[in-house]
Amino acid sequence: MKTEGIDGIERFTSPGKGRGLRATKHFKVGDLLFSCPAYAYVLTVSERAAHCEFCFTRKEGLSKCGKCKKAFYCNVDCQKGDWCMHKLECSAMCAYGENWSPSETVRLTARIIAKQKMQPERSASEKLLLVREFEAHLNELDNERSEMNQADIAALHHFYSKHLEFPDHAGLTVLFAQVNCNGFTIEDEELSHLGSAVFPDVALMNHSCCPNVIVTYKGIVAEVRAVQEINPGEEVFTSYIDLLYPTEDRNERLRDSYFFTCDCKECTTKSKDKAKMKLRDLSEPPKPEEVRDMLRYARNIIEDFRRAKHCKTPSELLEMCELSLDKMGAIFEDTNVYMLHMMYQAMGVCLYMEDWDGAMSYGEKIIKPYSMHYPAHSLNVASMYLKLGRLYLGLEKKSMGIKALKKAIVIMEVTHGKDHHYIAEIKREIQQQK
Ligand SMILES: [Zn+2]
Ligand SMILES: [Zn+2]
Ligand SMILES: [Zn+2]
Repeated sequence: MKTEGIDGIERFTSPGKGRGLRATKHFKVGDLLFSCPAYAYVLTVSERAAHCEFCFTRKEGLSKCGKCKKAFYCNVDCQKGDWCMHKLECSAMCAYGENWSPSETVRLTARIIAKQKMQPERSASEKLLLVREFEAHLNELDNERSEMNQADIAALHHFYSKHLEFPDHAGLTVLFAQVNCNGFTIEDEELSHLGSAVFPDVALMNHSCCPNVIVTYKGIVAEVRAVQEINPGEEVFTSYIDLLYPTEDRNERLRDSYFFTCDCKECTTKSKDKAKMKLRDLSEPPKPEEVRDMLRYARNIIEDFRRAKHCKTPSELLEMCELSLDKMGAIFEDTNVYMLHMMYQAMGVCLYMEDWDGAMSYGEKIIKPYSMHYPAHSLNVASMYLKLGRLYLGLEKKSMGIKALKKAIVIMEVTHGKDHHYIAEIKREIQQQK
């Protein structure tokens, strides 16, 4: 298959950024620039039974693989379609039982290797960028990252050697580094993690903290829509990271995971930083070193909490949130993003514990400042309205629920497109209230 390209966009060399994507025609807010089927993808283990492994459709009553009883499908067609990938894991999951534990990166990489073997020529996901052209940034990996890659390679050999022929060790080292820099996580409308995938053409886009497009998913297809006007000749930018945080934090994250520093308008002007780190209006304002110490505490607690999530009980986690909110609240305003971060975590724990009132009260505190800190048409804001709306409806607060869901729809009509099945579902939820 020869390169056919995509109408309205082209690959180009972006000054200072290497390759990138630019528009060759005008796009208005909400327009679809392009869509890209996953080159390879994998459903996350915790979403099994809720989603079809092959097409990611979410519904009840999926039928399971008779052999491993772990993979679920819409029907025989989906099961047949998935077999070339599922067979990499089906018998291994039976053989290893409880001890079957490859990371999601390993699972995805195994599928990439299988796909490369099955289809060596350019795929429909690679109209502008090939998987083998992915950046690896091998020389920039720190020790921790290199060790993780080596552990992943070992796990790949351990769990997948029966059905796969691997590239040599050097080839695998490059491949894992490529997957780490270019992999996507597929999320649902509430931003819950559904799986991991590679979308080569989507990976061509460079990053900006004021992105002009957003990536959403329809099953296993990524869709890229304009969230700002884009004129012919302009570069197309997506965001690689959560845009809630101040400039310094964003760039630390970008350097850590993607090995560059951002020079977008927001990173240069830092126009939102002050509001994002807002202090309380106290009669005696805190000393600069007190603020510095609190910032350090905030960044540490975020990291501590991230680690604690894997080992502590929900009530221990909730206590951790409450304590940190108390402590930071002495200096930080409720709209401060570090406060919002911990409130968001607390809301997540409450939802997990089915403490709907607790979740609702955190959500109510989060939503307004979220809308202020995030750019217009933000998935984070839409998903917060959605969670809040669904909570309200569950708590019989009908009109508040409908109002919140409608706000989510307004954003999602731009980010997901008016005909997305998520929007149809939300409209049905509203209809059922009437
Ligand atoms: Zn299916
Ligand atoms: Zn199976
Ligand atoms: Zn930036």
